Amino acid sequence: MVVPWPEAIAHCDADSFFLSCELARRPELKGKPAVVVGKLGSCVLAKSHDLKIQGIQTAMPIWEVKKRFPNVICLQADFAWYNHLSAKMFAILSNWTPDVEVYSVDEAFLDLKGLRRLYKMDYGQIAYAIKEDIKRQLGLTVSVGVSVSRTLAKMAGEVNKPDGVTVISAQELSSWLPKFSLGDVPGFGRNTVALLEKCGLKTCHDFVQLSEDKVRSLLHKPGLQLWKELRGQKVFSVEPAFAPQQMITRTSSFQPLTADQDFLWAHTVRQLERAVDALRDNEQRTQEVALYLRDRAFHHSGWSHRLPSSTNTFSDCLEALKQIWRRHFPAGKVFRSTGVTFFRLSQDLGQQFSLFENPGLFLRQDQLEQAKRIIKNRYGQLAIRSASSLRLSQLGPNVKKSLRAKAFNVEW
Ligand SMILES: [Mg+2]
Repeated sequence: MVVPWPEAIAHCDADSFFLSCELARRPELKGKPAVVVGKLGSCVLAKSHDLKIQGIQTAMPIWEVKKRFPNVICLQADFAWYNHLSAKMFAILSNWTPDVEVYSVDEAFLDLKGLRRLYKMDYGQIAYAIKEDIKRQLGLTVSVGVSVSRTLAKMAGEVNKPDGVTVISAQELSSWLPKFSLGDVPGFGRNTVALLEKCGLKTCHDFVQLSEDKVRSLLHKPGLQLWKELRGQKVFSVEPAFAPQQMITRTSSFQPLTADQDFLWAHTVRQLERAVDALRDNEQRTQEVALYLRDRAFHHSGWSHRLPSSTNTFSDCLEALKQIWRRHFPAGKVFRSTGVTFFRLSQDLGQQFSLFENPGLFLRQDQLEQAKRIIKNRYGQLAIRSASSLRLSQLGPNVKKSLRAKAFNVEW
């Protein structure tokens, strides 16, 4: 008798991820034809499900899409926002099982074995509950496939998209495999499919009927591994790989090289803003802020400042950066890049106050950071910035080079 669940692996894949991320913060666009375009705005990175059905494909030039759908809404890609939601999605998955393997920005494998007793649900119900949890918390839809091997779980996840769950137990394999073509197998390239078709095979059912020796002689070890996985024998495990980030670095290079201290300060503060955004996106805190400068000869100089307690606010980090700058900045030297690094990272578990700290001040700073995040999510990363780095907007690509070395007044 076939054991229905010798293993239980789920594949979780967000639907039209980049576009869904945009719709999560712009719900008024739901149901309208929309695409996400690259930074240069020339081709499609993600499209709505309706447009996909009507033949719009990823990497299609945007002029071609506009010719067919003149009212299409083009949204510029914001990868910082997508990474933020991606991390949140993986955090939700990790609440369901510690065995989560991040496979791409919007895909993960989960080992669900043994969880039926914990949640008092069957595997299909668990998959459905995970899907609904992500939808409720993030406003994103995902498609989930559950089966007895990774390969089968991924193929199951493709069956019912978007927002669907498909469950294939070992007992159901014989009825499912004839429905999958050879091209549906992740890992079978065009040449492999062509070779197998030459042998008279059409479906995955035909493939698993081959003998082990025949598969080995045709496709060698990689083909044999997939043959086993398709027969319901687990070859590839879910390998949780969550390594908390040990440091966060943001850098900026510029041309022409400059010794202008005010210009360099403005660039450095901008990198500090980006690093603080990443810190808060990761739900981490830092206790050490470092400044780094690279000179004309590509030599690095770096200094750091240890804070009395960990922080995730821009104002605390700016204060640390100012102290480094005042003490160490090598005036008169010419530099080609600047950057900021946070070390001594820890998970953000809230603020611990010492006897002499002011909780009211902390709360106001935290509210300010949250308000900044809301504005950035709504209007873009550069919508709200510190006064120092704001001056960099005068140095955009359209500004004459002669203006680039313009000196600024920097308030301390
Ligand atoms: Mg996806």
